[in-house]
Amino acid sequence: MLSFKIKKINEEIPSNVQLIAVSKTKTEEEILEIYKTGHRNFGENKAIEVKEKFNNLPKDILWHFIGHLQTNKIKYIAPFISLIHSVDSFKLLSEINKFAVKNKRTIPCLLQFHIATEETKFGFNLSEVELMLKSKEYFELKNIEIQGVMGMASFTENFNLVREEFQNLNKIFTFLKENYFLDKINFKEISMGMSHDYKIAIEQGSTIVRIGSAIFGDRL
Ligand SMILES: *Cc1c(COP(=O)(O)O)cnc(C)c1O
Repeated sequence: MLSFKIKKINEEIPSNVQLIAVSKTKTEEEILEIYKTGHRNFGENKAIEVKEKFNNLPKDILWHFIGHLQTNKIKYIAPFISLIHSVDSFKLLSEINKFAVKNKRTIPCLLQFHIATEETKFGFNLSEVELMLKSKEYFELKNIEIQGVMGMASFTENFNLVREEFQNLNKIFTFLKENYFLDKINFKEISMGMSHDYKIAIEQGSTIVRIGSAIFGDRL
């Protein structure tokens, strides 16, 4: 049943868009059911939960961290996480760098932007990011690699607003690429689009969609 749903979504999205199956709150059995179809990219939003799943499940799964990350939880995910989508402060980025050094690796990250009109969503605005990217302190972080941007649109039936917000994130991506990351070939990702809005996100240039309930069913 789950395998049928992921197959259907995979058929709908273009081959240049990566699908992250968001498995937060879902069981290891459910994840394995998706894994058996050949899918390897899963997304989680709690550090201890993803660490336990990493320990118990096949080691070729690529784990994506998509939730608000507290600095005191970085240690749980630093050894294995394949991409942190939700970097929303310089402090967090510099702490991730410390744990990457400890683990002798480079940790790929995305910068999360606040694109929704809602107050509650985390994320940078563009001027904060520009200040960071121009700073000496940022330049000294050698064990993180910024691979693009991430954002969440407003949770609304107003799809014109959603479209505008995704378009705005795409513009931010292009601005940063042209002004700060032109020589960085790995700066190429726009992580946007969830179960209810991924089609609009793809239409606006998303390269990574994060889909949970449309695959696994509603979370309790
Ligand atoms: C939960 C979550 C998703 C997936 O949401 P669905 O509506 O279940 O597809 C995507 N991105 C983030 C950041 C999430 O927290």
